[in-house]
Amino acid sequence: MFSLMANCCNWLKRWREPSRKVTLLMVGLDNAGKTATVRGIQGENPEDVAPTVGFSKVDLKQGKFEVTIFDLGGGKKIRGIWKNYYSETYGVVFVVDSSDVQRIEETKDIMAEVLRHPRIAGKPVLVLANKQDQDGAMHEADIIEYLSLEKLVNENKCLCQIEPCSAALGYGKKLDKSIKSGLNWLLNNIAKDYESINERVQKDTAEQRAQEEQDKKERAERVRRVREEREKKEREEAEREGRPMQEDELDDDNMANPFQPISTVITENEDKLKREKEKKRQREGQEGGEQKSPRESDSTALTQQLQEAEEEEEGEEESERQTPESTDSDQAKKKTKKLRLKRKHRVDPLRTEEGAPESPTPPPPPVGWATPKVTRLPKLEPLGDTRRSDFYGKPLPPVSVRQRPNSDTHDVIS
Ligand code: GDP
Repeated sequence: MFSLMANCCNWLKRWREPSRKVTLLMVGLDNAGKTATVRGIQGENPEDVAPTVGFSKVDLKQGKFEVTIFDLGGGKKIRGIWKNYYSETYGVVFVVDSSDVQRIEETKDIMAEVLRHPRIAGKPVLVLANKQDQDGAMHEADIIEYLSLEKLVNENKCLCQIEPCSAALGYGKKLDKSIKSGLNWLLNNIAKDYESINERVQKDTAEQRAQEEQDKKERAERVRRVREEREKKEREEAEREGRPMQEDELDDDNMANPFQPISTVITENEDKLKREKEKKRQREGQEGGEQKSPRESDSTALTQQLQEAEEEEEGEEESERQTPESTDSDQAKKKTKKLRLKRKHRVDPLRTEEGAPESPTPPPPPVGWATPKVTRLPKLEPLGDTRRSDFYGKPLPPVSVRQRPNSDTHDVIS
């Protein structure tokens, strides 16, 4: 009678107990069967699940427990994020692919790394030796040996249970009994030590948050310092060049309110561009009153080049027409005079050949407004006789033809 009363009291006590929030961490190598296990526990078909790439969070109710399971991706690149979840973990589920003998060494290293972490050591660990349905799957005892599990859990004071199972074989009510019992074992052991684990979790989580805040502040401080440094450099450069620091002011405006409507930002940018153009134009005006715009100066340079080439050619023709008696100084004088005249009258009205008066004597050298503008193509000369001159107009020796050392049929022009 007394024991019946005691049992009733216990049952009432448990019934009245508030539900406990527990976070579990599901880790293991990629492809071990973590997601399949979680889905099976949830009552979902675990078939055809893709290996976990990032992580997933699953909430479920298990008796008096409100369980949150973090299913973390096991790929090499993502394992680094596991430690971010250690502080809020009450217990660990480590899934092993029993059929993958080749990766058992890697599994051993990763498991040791997890259990040795100061935020995990001392917490209960459930090892699921998954894929037991596969041919050649390692037995429970082999896995314990390969992973040096006993040694590892003793060193890190972790309560441990290993369950051989197959996550893919059933789900919900048909979930592998080993997974069910393993999960019960884990939750019961957490419940037994709940106060102390919970205290540790609260403390570790608070510490981690503080650390994260600190890291965030340090990062912001680093960014601020780099920015200040850059602005200082820009200011110094601007001072050296004697121009005002306008861009910075505008940047600061934008920084003041990063959530402006896009139309405002576009208008501001357009204004900024206009102001910059205006300033550039003013600066150019100050530097040289007569200076032309780049486009203008380009076209002027081109026209001048063409004219000079033409003048040179005309000069040559002129010299050919001169009698041998006329002196060099005469020629030079005439040429200079002609060039001066030509430069004064740049816009030349075109006159057709028919309109020009016919004369048996060669036409006078083209000078002034009446000069007919005819584009002359350079005369083609036989290859061997090509006249070559250096940069200053001095004639160069004639082009020589040399034989290729290893050929007597092809020639190359050096
Ligand atoms: P995770 O990367 O650890 O999350 O692995 P998954 O749960 O995504 O499973 C990887 C692959 O193994 C999937 O194709 C699953 O269908 C398969 N798988 C998972 N558990 C078992 C099992 O117990 N037996 C067999 N044969 N295949 C399984």
